[in-house]
Amino acid sequence: MQVEKDKVVSFHYRVSEEPGTEVESSHGREPMVFLFGHGGIIPGLEKAMAGHAAGDAFEAVVAPEEAYGKRREDFVQRVPKKYFRDGVHLKPGMVTSLNTRDGQRSVTVLKIGSSVVDVDLNHPLAGKTLSFAVEITDVRDASEEEIAHGHVHGPGGHH
Ligand code: ZN
Repeated sequence: MQVEKDKVVSFHYRVSEEPGTEVESSHGREPMVFLFGHGGIIPGLEKAMAGHAAGDAFEAVVAPEEAYGKRREDFVQRVPKKYFRDGVHLKPGMVTSLNTRDGQRSVTVLKIGSSVVDVDLNHPLAGKTLSFAVEITDVRDASEEEIAHGHVHGPGGHH
């Protein structure tokens, strides 16, 4: 079965920043599972998977525009310390998560004041070209319910 719209795809990946520093890997844990064609993963990786089948291994280089976007230089915000889960242990340069109206967001700490923190709201991988090594472990049809919800149910998914 081929990877295409409305298939549920399981895969392992390693991702590196070009050139060659590993950022993250799914090896050693459960594969990632997502519903193809519903914006569940970055667009460049989804495109690279199209037409592959379970058992395929391949590499894909993804430009920032197709990954986490370009870096915005002025994307800095001053946030009250109380909005951080772990405000006491913040250090400049640290990547932490912040609860925003749009859900959790990864931010980089720039400067810490007594009651406020300046953070860079760019995704830590914004502006980076990423290199993925992907192994597709399973492809199956999605249920009607999964397609209606736009995400995977069951192992690795929602609910
Ligand atoms: Zn659901």
